[in-house]
Amino acid sequence: MTLDLGYYHDVDARFIDRFGPQFQRNVPLAKYTSARVGGPANMLLTVHSAEELEAAVTLAYETGTRYFILGGGSNILVADQGVDGLVILNRARKVQFRHAGASIVCTAESGANLSSMARQCISKGLGGLEWAIGVPGTVGGAVVGNSGAHGSDMSDNLVAITIWEPGRGKRTMTVEELNYGYRDSILKREQGKHRPRRVVLTAELRFDLEQTQVLTARADAFTAKRKQSQPGGASTGSMFKNPENYYAGYLIEAAGLKGLRFGDAEISEKHANFFINHGQATAEEIRALVAEAWHVVRDRFGVEMDLEVELVGTWDFES
Ligand SMILES: Cc1cc2nc3c(=O)[nH]c(=O)nc-3n(C[C@H](O)[C@H](O)[C@H](O)COP(=O)(O)OP(=O)(O)OC[C@H]3O[C@@H](n4cnc5c(N)ncnc54)[C@H](O)[C@@H]3O)c2cc1C
Repeated sequence: MTLDLGYYHDVDARFIDRFGPQFQRNVPLAKYTSARVGGPANMLLTVHSAEELEAAVTLAYETGTRYFILGGGSNILVADQGVDGLVILNRARKVQFRHAGASIVCTAESGANLSSMARQCISKGLGGLEWAIGVPGTVGGAVVGNSGAHGSDMSDNLVAITIWEPGRGKRTMTVEELNYGYRDSILKREQGKHRPRRVVLTAELRFDLEQTQVLTARADAFTAKRKQSQPGGASTGSMFKNPENYYAGYLIEAAGLKGLRFGDAEISEKHANFFINHGQATAEEIRALVAEAWHVVRDRFGVEMDLEVELVGTWDFES
């Protein structure tokens, strides 16, 4: 097979023409992920507004370029071989508040940091997002995965999103249309499918007024609980979803896998659903630990756990 280099140069030229130095080639992704692993993106484009995000996916779609949206990189495991195609690093962070009857409505660009937004809400006396203090990542990532903690999740405050759809462009999607479940949405279900995905541009959330001291106390209690139960260090947070009637961490612990280590990757001694990179772990070592945990739990308890984290890029086991 011969590579049509003219085509690649043409794609590069179109992105460089529109985005200048925001477009780069062969950029290591590890530093953009919470697990601090992963090889290079073939192409990386950093966007700073919802308009740029829309322009970027539109251009990718028009040029037939495979794309992946990277938010905080806290719910993905990027392969050591990296990601073929275009990675769009979402740094569209504008957040605006307005009155809507007795409530306050917030419109956030999808690259806004969720935890910072939660802090902003608390300081303004807006209740509902206290659970998100300490949850890394962006609003877009949280919308896709229906992130949540302490009995609440995104579906509680989300009203609607603006979404870009391949071949259709921009439209509004209501929270009902997102068909939310536990760490699940219609958008999350598109993961792993080899077709262009929809992209969250902005999200609209509604909040009720509450006393700042009450909200601060609630957030502090959540933070203390998180500190006491979760390990520090580089990880993807919970690796598996909790299966019905079980906790994934409990099953992995009961299978005797706490502390299991491959290279610099370890199943945490503190919380068995956290897989820690002690510094030099490879994505392959973490994936091997994941496979081991999945098989041992299935053999011991007959439970097949689903990954909460998405495997991204080109993996050895696929070739
Ligand atoms: C220490 C730690 C603690 C955590 N605690 C929690 C917790 O308590 N609760 C919880 O739910 N999660 C938790 N997580 C997981 C993670 O923080 C959340 O899932 C987070 O919402 C992911 O957001 P992100 O921006 O990092 O997404 P990424 O990891 O960047 O992306 C995840 C997926 O969403 C897609 N995506 C991202 N942005 C967009 C967009 N704008 N449009 C379309 N698709 C998009 C990506 O393409 C990818 O498929 C934790 C993670 C860590 C490391």
